[in-house]
This record gives sequence, structure tokens and C-alpha cells, in this order.
Amino acid sequence: MRVGFGYDIHRLVTGRKLVLGGVEIPHSRGLEGHSDADVLSHAIADALLGAIGERDIGHHFPNTDASIRGMDSQEILQRVQAILAAKRFAIVNIDSTIVAEEPKVGPHLPAMRARLAQTLYLPADAIGIKATTNEGLGALGRGEGIAAFAVAGVERVEPSVSPDAPRHVA
Ligand code: MG
Repeated sequence: MRVGFGYDIHRLVTGRKLVLGGVEIPHSRGLEGHSDADVLSHAIADALLGAIGERDIGHHFPNTDASIRGMDSQEILQRVQAILAAKRFAIVNIDSTIVAEEPKVGPHLPAMRARLAQTLYLPADAIGIKATTNEGLGALGRGEGIAAFAVAGVERVEPSVSPDAPRHVA
């Protein structure tokens, strides 16, 4: 059993869609970034990569790579899952916290969990997502951006089991 940790933050700007956990959330601003800037999915990707001693998401998906521009971060997560599978690791669980002053993301958490579960071949109860504000403190408190923290548990897959096989059956 291994654990990994991930953190990410993106700036909120006008003229961008807001995507969190693979779910588009209606808001006047969205997160700025090279991909869809899904800060939660990026934190989870880094937690998964960290758990197996891999380099971070910026190394595997550099923002100098034109093919990643505007990419759906669910595809990034699927590629990270494939890196784990190739090294014979399976995801046990993920826990995470979104720090956002606005909009209220609480009502969207079940949809995010369902989407991430589908992307990563996990049962919904293997994914925790919490949301909090920053109590008005600092840049996050002023609503200048959204941050996310994530941890992931992974374990080695038994040699008799195909590394590509989903570990959990929904
Ligand atoms: Mg990011």
C-alpha cells in the first residue's frame, strides 16, 4: 500500500468555462490554464503519480505540448491511470478538498464523484471530495482562484491479475 499527495491552483478569469472534477459548473468565470484547467483532476493526477514515485503532471503533460491545449483533464486522468496500470498499480481510493470562495461547489460534488469514478474505473465510495471556502483569507479568499488538495492510496496488482483490468467492479 502506498499513498501520494497532490496540490494544484489555477486563477479564475473571465471568458473560460469552469470545470471541476470533470463537471462543467455554471459561473461567471472559469479557470485559466493550458488544458481545461480542472484543478481538482490535476491534484488527483499528481497524487496518483506521486504514489508510484513518478514525476508530476507538468512533466508528463507539459504546457509546451500543443496537443494538450484545451484537453479534457479526464483524458489526463485516464492516461495517468494507464501509467499506474503499466507499472502494475491499482488505485485503492482518493480523497480530496476543493478550496473555492465561489461559486458554491457543494451541490456539484455528487456529479464530480460520479464522473471521476467513471474515468478511473472506481466505485463512487472510493472517491472523497470535500469543499471549503478560504474564509475570505488571502488570494483564494478574494476569489482570485481555486485550489485543490488530494491524496491517493494505491496498491500493487497481483501478478495473476491483468494490470489493465479494472480493480473494482461497479
Ligand atoms: Mg493544473
